[in-house]
Amino acid sequence: MAVLLRNPKTITRTTTCSIKPLSSCISRSFSSTTLNSETDLKVPSFFSCISPPLRQEPKDRNVQWVFLGCPGVGKGTYASRLSNLLGIPHIATGDLVREELNSSGTLSSQLKEIVNQGKLVSDEIIISLLSKRLEAGEAKGESGFILDGFPRTIRQAEILEGVTDIDLVVNLKLREEALLAKCLGRRICSQCGGNYNIASIDIKGENGKPGIYMAPLPAPPQCVPNLIQRADDTKEVVKERLRIYNEMSRPVEEFYRNRGKLLEFDLPGGIPESWPKLLEALNLDHEDKCTAAA
Ligand code: ADP
Repeated sequence: MAVLLRNPKTITRTTTCSIKPLSSCISRSFSSTTLNSETDLKVPSFFSCISPPLRQEPKDRNVQWVFLGCPGVGKGTYASRLSNLLGIPHIATGDLVREELNSSGTLSSQLKEIVNQGKLVSDEIIISLLSKRLEAGEAKGESGFILDGFPRTIRQAEILEGVTDIDLVVNLKLREEALLAKCLGRRICSQCGGNYNIASIDIKGENGKPGIYMAPLPAPPQCVPNLIQRADDTKEVVKERLRIYNEMSRPVEEFYRNRGKLLEFDLPGGIPESWPKLLEALNLDHEDKCTAAA
């Protein structure tokens, strides 16, 4: 499989796809963060517990990308496809939270309550979970990352900015009516973790906004008996997640826009329409684009 990565459209920074060991700067910098000071967390002391960053030039490491976008937009779907294509780990903080929530750890019940209300987990807990994941990846020799669901607050973005250079931030966008329908239609295979969707979305264009059609994404027969819904994919909780995204995470888009790192991508439809266009927007030449869209 040949993948050629050139500069994403509208982004002038140089990105490369050289295969180099994962920069350990984030995990090292985050590794000193603990959950102990949660209650009396203050911004200055929080920053001071992060060791000095070890930055690497983009040419000496793999890509370091971030995916932003509202709940249900498809961050996980596209980040995971790119991760497979580029051989870079896809790290979704939502998955890390769900793993912890389903474990027998001490944080489990606390996380369940927060997530099931559609609220954000504290920056400190998220950074601790992310540090552990990055350290585990580093030990396995992972290189680069595609972050999905992080950063979600300005403070998280500042912390990330303080320890490493993000090359590119992809902001996925979709009309709000489609977001709700996609969250409500989402189904997950409890065995393999595959993500499917039963929603058939057909929203007419109006007031200059284009219409959008998204076909359902059916699960393969072997996954059908194991399909489950996320506990936070109810109408009430999705609405709260969207509200919190607008309040807490929308400013993160502006943070990266101001730094010239934001690539805006309006999803034109489902995966067959959107995936080839996303590859094009990222200036990724994939010799097998048609197969990749399947
Ligand atoms: P969404 O579909 O809302 O984007 P995710 O799977 O990314 O959902 O996250 C699920 C939940 O995990 C969030 O609602 C939030 O409670 C928690 N979470 C995930 N990432 C973060 C983060 N970076 N900061 C705070 N909370 C997070």
